[in-house]
Amino acid sequence: MISNQELPTEFLEAIPVLKEIEQAGFEAYFVGGSVRDMFLGHPIHDVDIATSAYPEEIKQIFKRTVDVGIEHGTVLVLIGEEQYEVTTFRTESTYQDYRRPDKVTFVRSLEEDLKRRDFTMNALAMTADGELIDLFDGLKAIKQQQIIAVGKPNERFNEDALRMMRGLRFASQLDFSIEEATLSAITEHAHLLKEISVERICVEWVKLLLGKNPRWGVELFLTTECFNYCPGLINQQLELCRLQTKLTTVISSEELAWILLLDHLTVKNTKKWLKQWKLSNKMIQSVTDALNYLPIRRTKGDWTKDMLYEAGAETICLVEQVLTYLGEDGHESLYLEAYQKLPIHSLHELEISGKDLLENLDKSPGAWVGITLNHLANLVLHNQLTNNHNELLLYCQKELRDDV
Ligand code: ATP
Ligand code: MG
Repeated sequence: MISNQELPTEFLEAIPVLKEIEQAGFEAYFVGGSVRDMFLGHPIHDVDIATSAYPEEIKQIFKRTVDVGIEHGTVLVLIGEEQYEVTTFRTESTYQDYRRPDKVTFVRSLEEDLKRRDFTMNALAMTADGELIDLFDGLKAIKQQQIIAVGKPNERFNEDALRMMRGLRFASQLDFSIEEATLSAITEHAHLLKEISVERICVEWVKLLLGKNPRWGVELFLTTECFNYCPGLINQQLELCRLQTKLTTVISSEELAWILLLDHLTVKNTKKWLKQWKLSNKMIQSVTDALNYLPIRRTKGDWTKDMLYEAGAETICLVEQVLTYLGEDGHESLYLEAYQKLPIHSLHELEISGKDLLENLDKSPGAWVGITLNHLANLVLHNQLTNNHNELLLYCQKELRDDV
């Protein structure tokens, strides 16, 4: 029994929701990741509530609700500024395609609901009074820092292959080991990852890379051979191994994770490779930009003014972060400061516009406008001209006259 003083505020705030469900004659529990994180002493993200009440019954109990996934039994309950996901106990009957269940059945039994959960540490439930329901020894697994499948691991990964990637990412995030039978079942069923959508695998892969112990996560990804069923990683065992040995600390951002990965892989077309993972265009651009400058920065051992100007702050920071991560003498703040001190950072900052040129120089529109603006920016960048409207205009009038 956990006393109320020990419960994190996220749970305390949600107690009235559970109590109200109970008063209506149903059962309600805190479940899943939030209960696990409480025992780990980790911050709680979202408090999930499971109940014996059916979605329609939940909607009758609370005034303000939103149907977010009613077919899966989830109703969002709104209380003041807060919102809580309340999900009806359910079993997931037959699985035919190694992913989501064909049919979700609502049940009144907590045990049935906990049985369908992936790992024992995620199958804990707790009442509003702090009573723990631990039917699968989840607390022991947390104490022993072990990831253990609920029930028979082979069956569980056959039902939903994504659970294997979830297991690996939890291993990296929590720095836990994977229990023997669970681990060998992952190795045996890794090939089923082919059936899972890239988007869902990607979520877990990124969480694995950004976890507390990415080196361990990648090691498991290699030994279980899950890598062979992920986009663009087939037969890249040696490359991944080389990366793995360099993963000594936490990776601070998703961009950095993809750059580190691609810096070690054998890839012909980076953009195409990243597209396979269905990443956003913004992410693909940031990663490819950094990967373009990385070899130049490595060869030159420095940034020139032109490089700083062309690359921009985000790319400079990412390149320096990669170098720092890999112990290759990165200097993020030094080069960011050098960038900020540049007299100009883009054409927008130039004190003269294309319109000004057209209005003041007796020439018809054409490619010369863009060329001239870039030329002026370059002169300003190298302190050969001051970024001052009149000075820039005078220069153009003189230069373009001389051109004639
Ligand atoms: P996180 O802290 O990353 O959110 P989590 O454990 O809360 O971790 P969620 O994806 O939010 O993970 O899922 C909530 C709960 O639902 C899990 O704790 C687990 O009990 C159950 N669950 C989620 N995905 C699966 C799955 N594929 N198979 C079985 N149970 C699952
Ligand atoms: Mg969660």
